[in-house]
Amino acid sequence: MRPERAARALVAGLAVGVATACAPDDETSHSRFLAFGTLVEVDVYGTDEKTAARAAADIEACFHVLHDAWHPWAEGELGRINRAIAAGEPAPIGEDLAGLLAEASRLSRDSGGLFDPTLGRLVALWGFADDEQSPVAPPAGARIRALLDAGTGPDRLRVDGRTISSTSRAIAVDLGGFAKGVAVDRAIERLRRLGVTNAIVNAGGDLRVIGRHGDRPWRIGIRHPRRPGIMAELEVDDGESVFTSGDYERHFVYRGRRYHHILDPRTGEPAANAVSVTVLGDDAARADAAATALFVAGAGAWRAVAGGLGVEHVMLVAPDGRIEMSTPMAGRLRLTRPPAGGEPRIELEAAT
Ligand code: AMP
Ligand code: MG
Repeated sequence: MRPERAARALVAGLAVGVATACAPDDETSHSRFLAFGTLVEVDVYGTDEKTAARAAADIEACFHVLHDAWHPWAEGELGRINRAIAAGEPAPIGEDLAGLLAEASRLSRDSGGLFDPTLGRLVALWGFADDEQSPVAPPAGARIRALLDAGTGPDRLRVDGRTISSTSRAIAVDLGGFAKGVAVDRAIERLRRLGVTNAIVNAGGDLRVIGRHGDRPWRIGIRHPRRPGIMAELEVDDGESVFTSGDYERHFVYRGRRYHHILDPRTGEPAANAVSVTVLGDDAARADAAATALFVAGAGAWRAVAGGLGVEHVMLVAPDGRIEMSTPMAGRLRLTRPPAGGEPRIELEAAT
């Protein structure tokens, strides 16, 4: 990562860090590092300094290895696979990545294809694969259509033992919609193995917790999609995770219109019917994939997709500032600053 980008990521991460309501205190060991292009914070409560520092160092090393292996275009394992697919050749795939791809394929199927881990070529066409530079204009419609016509989706991939091949040269594997979730799950797993019983792993506002913060649950904030600070607070119980997909993350403005990094696989364009989606769930990988898929589904349509993915706690902010929430989420979350201003316009599901 270039220094200026690292600095930007740190500033962005700190802004999100404000969203974590639990400030470090004497009994909390706080570590932070940059990984997956964002600031990762590991807070461990009530464990000795040495164990907490070892756990954080362990997690940092692990995140860097995973980032290199799972980056769609770098020199690592997935980058090599994507170059082989583009050349129409098979490539070796390790057990870990093959397992991850199988999990991504299941989530894709459960989401009716809205979570699509094979959009790498479209993401690159839009300019969002470049870690160094932001795009300045949308690509030509004909180029989007050409990639869509060639077809996307995990069904085009074949994993045979330790070899992967694709029936289409026009796709590339991009696990960006759930890799952070998988990494956070693994971090929590590591903390548990080290005997840590109270901790939070927060990767740029996406997080999972274990245990509690002393005599109360971990309390977190959900970032306001349009202003600095938070829009809602939430208490998170042992093992739970909270993931948000937003149009404010990677985006550019062209002729007054916002274009962002979450693409609708049906159109090849940024999904237009949400501003942010927050999912609370038991595992971070599913919550991460679900936040992306429900963002693509958009206002109104997310409810059916949430059912397919088995997620019950959802909040969606619509482009007009309206908030749609599942009833279980409304029972957990406290709005502090609704995006529409004034009285929040909250729509729960119709009573059945
Ligand atoms: P997230 O912030 O978790 O919603 O992930 C967004 C990232 O996932 C993008 O930067 C792309 O790399 C990738 N992506 C974009 N659209 C999709 C999609 N429909 N399904 C799965 N991954 C996607
Ligand atoms: Mg996601």
